[in-house]
Amino acid sequence: MVRHVVVFAETKQGSLRNVSFEVLEAAKRLNDGGLITAVLIGTQEQSQADLLAEYGAHEVVFVENKQLDTYTTDAYTQAFTSIIHEKNPDVILMPHTAMGKDFAPRAAARIGCGLITDCTNVEISDGNIVFTRPIYAGKAFQRRVVVRDQIFATIRPNNIPCSKVDHHESAKKIQKVLNLDEIRTTVREVIQKTTDGVDLSEAKIIVAGGRGVKSAEGFGPLKDLAQVIGAAVGASRGACDAEYCDYALQIGQTGKVVTPDLYIACGISGAIQHLAGMSNSKMIVAINKDPEAPIFDVADYGIVGDLFEVVPLLTEQFKQAMT
Ligand code: FAD
Repeated sequence: MVRHVVVFAETKQGSLRNVSFEVLEAAKRLNDGGLITAVLIGTQEQSQADLLAEYGAHEVVFVENKQLDTYTTDAYTQAFTSIIHEKNPDVILMPHTAMGKDFAPRAAARIGCGLITDCTNVEISDGNIVFTRPIYAGKAFQRRVVVRDQIFATIRPNNIPCSKVDHHESAKKIQKVLNLDEIRTTVREVIQKTTDGVDLSEAKIIVAGGRGVKSAEGFGPLKDLAQVIGAAVGASRGACDAEYCDYALQIGQTGKVVTPDLYIACGISGAIQHLAGMSNSKMIVAINKDPEAPIFDVADYGIVGDLFEVVPLLTEQFKQAMT
């Protein structure tokens, strides 16, 4: 029986990422009335503890040290594993984000625990903890029962719907000022990529463009649509390779994996490597002038037509519907 779950609560520019609440939701499914501890690393607002309590955390550990204010694999691994050693929980959960992907394997190795990554669901079935994760680039799903004493898993964003708990007490706040061993990495400067508007990996709606947009300016109508419907803009590697947009927008096997409620693919052929990053979207709309384009095989709705005619029409219709 799971009695204690420790969750890594990830923040971005001082705010808790939505996936942190989704990871707490996974913890609630498993902990069976036991303790849920959220761990916040670096200098963080104390008010974050109240928000984490609303989503199910019973206690929040603030791990502080000046060297933790900027992310490095070394420092975060040390900080998180020191809390794991101290708490010795039954289950450890972390978001499957760039940060989670980077330091979860190292943390798992340090504590001598196996790691199950990129889980899209967590449940108790017949008394066992069952993790679901995609395999073969998202073409199939594997359900894995873990029978170890200590379990460590990462949770893919946008898959487990999170909810606030009905009645909650304030979370117990625990302050930890940590002495770190030598950190081998020095971060001299952090340069933020400019991705306007909604964060791609947590977006509920994505408007994505492919080589069919034909130029950087061709993304203009897609950006207009995205702005009207509150979407993030994404891209195929074809569009990135052609320098129509930044690689930060790339979705697919070697880009970001996204699972929005709505994915609008414009001028994207639907190569297997692109599908690997978006085929688990809840609804897919494809706009392509080639009726044989493979993207239509995974689309719920397909529009055969020129995106430069279709996308502005959609934007106009949404504008009217929203006023
Ligand atoms: P294209 O295949 O050229 O398709 C353009 C589409 O636009 C066509 O279907 C065309 O009919 C349509 N079109 C053209 N004009 C219009 C118009 N006016 N209106 C409407 N439709 C129009 N790709 C990714 O996306 N993500 C990845 O992560 C990725 N990783 C890869 C990893 C490896 C190891 C390899 C080998 C490849 C990877 N690729 C990836 C590349 C992938 O194989 C494809 O080459 C790429 O996805 C094609 O991009 P595209 O659909 O934009 O371009």
